[in-house]
Amino acid sequence: MLAAQILAPGRAHVIETEQPTPGPDDVLIEVAAAGICGTDIHIFRGEYMAVYPLIPGHEFSGTVIGCGENVTRFKVGDRVTADPNIPCNRCPACQRNEPNQCENLAAIGVTRSGAFAHYVIAPEGNVFPIGNLSFEAAALVEPLACVVWGLKRVQVQPGDSALVFGVGPMGCLMVQSLRSVGASNIVVTDTVPWRLEQAMQLGASEAVLADEHQERRLKAIAPKGYDIVVDVTGIPKVLEQSFQYARARGKVWVFGVCPVDAPATFIPYDVFRKDLSIIGSFAVNRTFQESIAMINSGLIRVEPLISHRLPLADFVQGLEMAEHDPKRMKVQFSLA
Ligand SMILES: [Zn+2]
Ligand SMILES: [Zn+2]
Repeated sequence: MLAAQILAPGRAHVIETEQPTPGPDDVLIEVAAAGICGTDIHIFRGEYMAVYPLIPGHEFSGTVIGCGENVTRFKVGDRVTADPNIPCNRCPACQRNEPNQCENLAAIGVTRSGAFAHYVIAPEGNVFPIGNLSFEAAALVEPLACVVWGLKRVQVQPGDSALVFGVGPMGCLMVQSLRSVGASNIVVTDTVPWRLEQAMQLGASEAVLADEHQERRLKAIAPKGYDIVVDVTGIPKVLEQSFQYARARGKVWVFGVCPVDAPATFIPYDVFRKDLSIIGSFAVNRTFQESIAMINSGLIRVEPLISHRLPLADFVQGLEMAEHDPKRMKVQFSLA
């Protein structure tokens, strides 16, 4: 089968390799669509907890073409997606019902072979039927499931105002998701005007270009601050400046993935004086069912977020596009 492989940080190629064989509890999936995530770019650069050499790809959908002998819920021909995170189910974190904090967390496309390949294996318990969703839409269930997990952590209250830094595909999912759980005024800011337009079309209330007037404009919109300030950029400098926009008792949500070990500073006195909450949310935490339902019902629109569709042979070019193309949103590989 064809597969994209990262040999070591900075070195990737597309290879012909052996088709994987499912174990007794596994489902073998023929990949139809697989999206590039910021995490894949971090993995390519060696800025994430990956194991090399690696076939990445953790946002995907496809068709079941084989099942291990113990698999009972799926059969050949089923259209599916899969939660990439595989907790061990026996460590103290798993025993506390916090599987995303599993001490032995494995992940498809991070610590084991992923979906930038014609075939991928997932344990049955990680596989979800996608009903009538298109394969392209279903490959966006995973990123939405990350937002949904964060929403559960942050506990958005009816009528909350929100400030979203960064409206790439994740930020656009964030805007729609905040709206769906009752946020009122949702202000977005980004360096790319085209992305701001997209976010407005998907439900943002106001857009502010991240230029030299950004601070003044964001403060004019909400002089006392925003109930929720969320960084989706993963840029430490952006996170640092986001604190000042939270209202007293507000919440600063650390969502974007900053490079491992990159520091960011904040003013502890402000956190103390304003009763601020700093909330992190990591990956997915059994939030796939909700995400599939949100897309299926039309509550969240994902198709407008797909900007590029490429063959897998263009893997390295795809990574480049996902990072630098000025008109990029979600870049997906089409394998079907
Ligand atoms: Zn991802
Ligand atoms: Zn565990």
